[in-house]
Amino acid sequence: MKRLISLFTLILMVSCAFASEKPNILWLFSDDHAYQAIGAYGGRFEKENLTPNIDSIAKSGMLFERAYVANSICAPSRATLLTGKHSHLNGKYDNRGGFNHNQQQFQKILQKSGYQTAMIGKIHLNGKMQGFDYWEVLPGQGRYWNPDFITEKGRTKYKGQHSTTVITDRALNWLKTGRDEKKPFMLMVHYKAPHRHWEPNKKQKAAFRSRTFPEPDTLFDDYEGRGTAAHKQDMSIAKTMTMNSDVKAYQPERKAYLEKHNPQGKDLIRWKYQAYMQDYLGCIAGVDENVGRLLAHLKESGLDKNTVVMYSADQGFYLGEHGWFDKRFMYEESFRTPLVASWKGVIKPGSRNSDLVQNIDFAETFLDIAGAPIPEDMQGRSLVPLLKGKTPKDWRTSLYYHYYEYPAVHSVRKHEGVADKRYKLIRFYGQDVPNGEEWEFYDLKNDPQEMQSQYANPEHSDIIASLKKELTKLRTQYKVPAIQ
Ligand code: CA
Repeated sequence: MKRLISLFTLILMVSCAFASEKPNILWLFSDDHAYQAIGAYGGRFEKENLTPNIDSIAKSGMLFERAYVANSICAPSRATLLTGKHSHLNGKYDNRGGFNHNQQQFQKILQKSGYQTAMIGKIHLNGKMQGFDYWEVLPGQGRYWNPDFITEKGRTKYKGQHSTTVITDRALNWLKTGRDEKKPFMLMVHYKAPHRHWEPNKKQKAAFRSRTFPEPDTLFDDYEGRGTAAHKQDMSIAKTMTMNSDVKAYQPERKAYLEKHNPQGKDLIRWKYQAYMQDYLGCIAGVDENVGRLLAHLKESGLDKNTVVMYSADQGFYLGEHGWFDKRFMYEESFRTPLVASWKGVIKPGSRNSDLVQNIDFAETFLDIAGAPIPEDMQGRSLVPLLKGKTPKDWRTSLYYHYYEYPAVHSVRKHEGVADKRYKLIRFYGQDVPNGEEWEFYDLKNDPQEMQSQYANPEHSDIIASLKKELTKLRTQYKVPAIQ
């Protein structure tokens, strides 16, 4: 008997030891952070040194060169993050309407598998969070300054403070005082920044005010070569970006410049672009500085040895490319999203992955890291083999995309599409699309900026036909309901 008990104790001790060695996960997420605005991704802001801390995650881990979203807009992207499902299955098609919190979500499974779970910051899904041992979230879009936060117990206002700082402070507080040290944790830190209206904290506001940033090649795009949707959108720097809340022309130094120089036409667009970049990139620098505070805490506390750190955003964003701000389109700048990850002893430092990954993969990745069961009905795949540098032979070769929010702010027509590593086929459909349907096709190898749809070019008819087949296949695979 005694022997049996000691054997039992031994098994218990061993299993506890294993349990405590399960990796923690620190998930860092921001709102509208374009990959172009991360140094590690290269591009026109590479030399601006905007994101040394986010870059350090890539340097010590892996950068995903081809991470994409399933529906490029805030709330649906978060619903996909939690459920591992496309919008049509999690029910969150657009920013309007509710989210069914009662449905399956990865954090509920993590919790059952012995993880302590916490969500701090912007989730943009109304209603009480489920599956989190601790949650403290901004109501709706939340505010940059004097933000309110909602918890299980009610509402707190953080007077005189910037949301990026408060979110980090609250996350650090949870790491220091809220943890059950017997359990591994999943901490999700979700920044509101750099969402419109791009209000950086004081330090970054002052530092970025005098800077001038490179313009994109396509700032003065006239949309020739593309269809109705690109022509009729309402998200341009020229026409949509407001002088008041967006560009903040009332601020003294900006007001003074405008009064003195009175820029018009292209000069005014250029000036608005610079003001936009000063504020947007200032927000990014603030997020990065705060990511640095979290990374420093992991290091000081020794948690860095067993914590997977991932940084991503709910979608990409236009930083003046095509003359735009905002997102929604399946064109590359908003379809893509940043993704970097570090995991000591597992990810080879400085590695880059070019497989097609999508935000439907995140939930399964978290579960896989935790060794928790992955439900059959989640629609992505775990990225863990990729993190280990071993992409499975049957990894996906195409992505499905679907945007639904129309008619709505920014007037981007409904569309779905399919993309592989080189080609992209988009079908705009429904209200305010001529004849109810309009196709566009791009060869990104020859036209990386997607300036000229080649849909009508007979040279591409074979590849277009095969992409149409692929689209049908993906619609069946992902159980997309019939549309018009
Ligand atoms: Ca967003």
